[in-house]
Amino acid sequence: MHILLMGPPGAGKGTQAANLVKEFTISHISTGDMFRAAIKAGTELGKQAKACIDAGNLVPDEITIGIVRERLSQDDCKKGFILDGFPRTVEQADALTEILSDLGLKLKSVLDVNVPSADLVERAVGRRICKSCGATYHIKFNPSKVEGVCDECGGELFQRPDDTEETMKNRLSVYDAQTKPLIDYYTKAGLYVEVDGRQEIGKVFADIVDILKD
Ligand code: ADP
Ligand code: ADP
Ligand code: ZN
Repeated sequence: MHILLMGPPGAGKGTQAANLVKEFTISHISTGDMFRAAIKAGTELGKQAKACIDAGNLVPDEITIGIVRERLSQDDCKKGFILDGFPRTVEQADALTEILSDLGLKLKSVLDVNVPSADLVERAVGRRICKSCGATYHIKFNPSKVEGVCDECGGELFQRPDDTEETMKNRLSVYDAQTKPLIDYYTKAGLYVEVDGRQEIGKVFADIVDILKD
């Protein structure tokens, strides 16, 4: 099963993807996670991506498409993947179409987790991530049992440097300008399905599983 998870920043893509990989045996591919790992490792890619991410702008298409092309050609992707946060531009979507055709793979659905902008800033600013295992929490909507400590592994929780109110404003306008056109793109391709992301995490997950089992 090969699926895309779309949605504005803070909509719940990463949270749903983490649950989906437990339900179905597929790989979770998040371009945001790949960039953050590269920044942490101090690689050339990390250096190129950091300024864009900190400002809430997109990393250039050429760089992003390159890392996705390489990742999707790895063996584990044959059995299935969830692409989380890619594509984010029409150019990336065109490249993905070409990559999948080269690999002989076909998308099952494009799921768009829809949440009104007014809620997204609060979701992003309250997001906390485990330094060790990457599990995602929210200080209000999905708190860890002990503040600042991961339930899964005991790791320390941190806040992403780009999860500020100011950066979110830019990320949301970048989403409107560059990513929203993909709704039309995947509707025309007959793949687009909207999911109501305002519901609680478990309900959003149940809706997604229903769609995928169809
Ligand atoms: P994305 O990957 O789309 O940016 P995340 O999955 O990281 O989004 O979620 C953003 C924040 O919102 C996290 O703190 C997460 O715990 C919280 N969150 C995710 N889904 C929901 C939901 N359905 N209701 C309330 N909060 C949510
Ligand atoms: P969110 O969905 O919460 O915005 P991500 O972790 O998916 O967070 O992305 C974080 C940042 O990484 C983005 O704001 C952007 O700078 C960069 N990024 C992630 N995916 C892409 C992409 N497909 N194209 C360009 N930049 C990307
Ligand atoms: Zn953890």
